[in-house]
Amino acid sequence: MHIYPDASAVVRALSPDEPVILNRPHAARRAARFFVEKFPGKVLYAVKANPAPDLIEVLWDAGVTHYDVASITEVRLVRGILPHAVLCFMHPVKTPAAIREAYFDHGVRTFSLDTVEELEKIVAACTDPATGEAPRDLRLCVRLRVSSEYSELSLASKFGCDLIEAPKLLQEARQHCDWLGVCFHVGSQAMTPFAYVQALDRTRAAIAEASVVIDMIDVGGGFPSAYPGLEPPPMEDYFAIIAKHFEALPIAYNAELWCEPGRALSAEYSSMIVQVNKRRGEELYINDGAYGALYDAAHVEWRFPVRALEDDLIEEDADFAFYGPTCDDADYMKGPFKLPADIQAGDYIEVGMLGAYGAAMKTGFNGYGNALVVTVEDEPMMSLFNGTRVREATDNVVSLR
Ligand SMILES: *Cc1c(COP(=O)(O)O)cnc(C)c1O
Repeated sequence: MHIYPDASAVVRALSPDEPVILNRPHAARRAARFFVEKFPGKVLYAVKANPAPDLIEVLWDAGVTHYDVASITEVRLVRGILPHAVLCFMHPVKTPAAIREAYFDHGVRTFSLDTVEELEKIVAACTDPATGEAPRDLRLCVRLRVSSEYSELSLASKFGCDLIEAPKLLQEARQHCDWLGVCFHVGSQAMTPFAYVQALDRTRAAIAEASVVIDMIDVGGGFPSAYPGLEPPPMEDYFAIIAKHFEALPIAYNAELWCEPGRALSAEYSSMIVQVNKRRGEELYINDGAYGALYDAAHVEWRFPVRALEDDLIEEDADFAFYGPTCDDADYMKGPFKLPADIQAGDYIEVGMLGAYGAAMKTGFNGYGNALVVTVEDEPMMSLFNGTRVREATDNVVSLR
């Protein structure tokens, strides 16, 4: 893969007609080292945020040994890249065939569930077809429903059992495994550590009511990255509060603490070069959008950072909205995106912080979706891990190995 110093060098070299994804392996490595060194437990990467094989290798090399996979395709993908990684199938609704293949062909032992039906499905799918013997080595995680009120993107309504059902489900799951965990997800981009306090309080109530031994607490994803208008408190504050409330739980003395960040490990990995194909007033028609890496910009009005890659733009910034390349009116990104007021058709823009739920969202709808992928060496447009963030902590910089 070609390596360039930065986005401007890519534009000078290629004058690209289609979007270009710019990957920053050094930024992903730094985020991974930060979590591996500072999170007071085990760090799983939630693969759905960005399943790029190059990224998965970078994370592995940086010390991330466990992966949260949520489909059989993700299981096969990660197993193909990392034969020795620990894969945890953390989607609470799976098919029997997916469970069977994961268990028998790919060595998956950890599964999440939020109903008795799913528990029975997992046990049946992992039963030895020759002997009829039930599996003895399952590691089960009961997914609890918790509030998403402190997060930018809710994950509260689809999965998770409530506090009424949880004790019974924990007791039943305990009968099928020697290792039982509780997991939850506070929603993505949790803007305050308090989100985890509330979820751990709920966990405490479920465990106390069930009175079963709990071997693992998985606080899920939700760890933030930085975006315009969404600069979170220091990550250390999240880690410290989680550690404190974990230690106060009524669980086995040697119980493990896990987290499953997707966004926080991958957001800084990628940005993208787009070109302005047309300007209409304060609207720029660019060559990526709602069906591409800018899915979130269109569908949840996420404001990714932008910068113009032209030296000859002299006017002050103005607010722009974007249209994507497809013929669909919904291919619209409200922004506002701040760019020089004299930007025009033909100019290039870099859109930052697209490593999580960005580069991974590209489709080929309407014939758009091709992108060149290159490596760049400059810093991401925003970072929580290089000492440049707005809300600074004393101790947030980790060294690269
Ligand atoms: C999506 C997801 C994650 C990652 O969430 P982020 O907010 O990106 O950190 C972790 N765990 C589960 C079960 C998920 O579905």
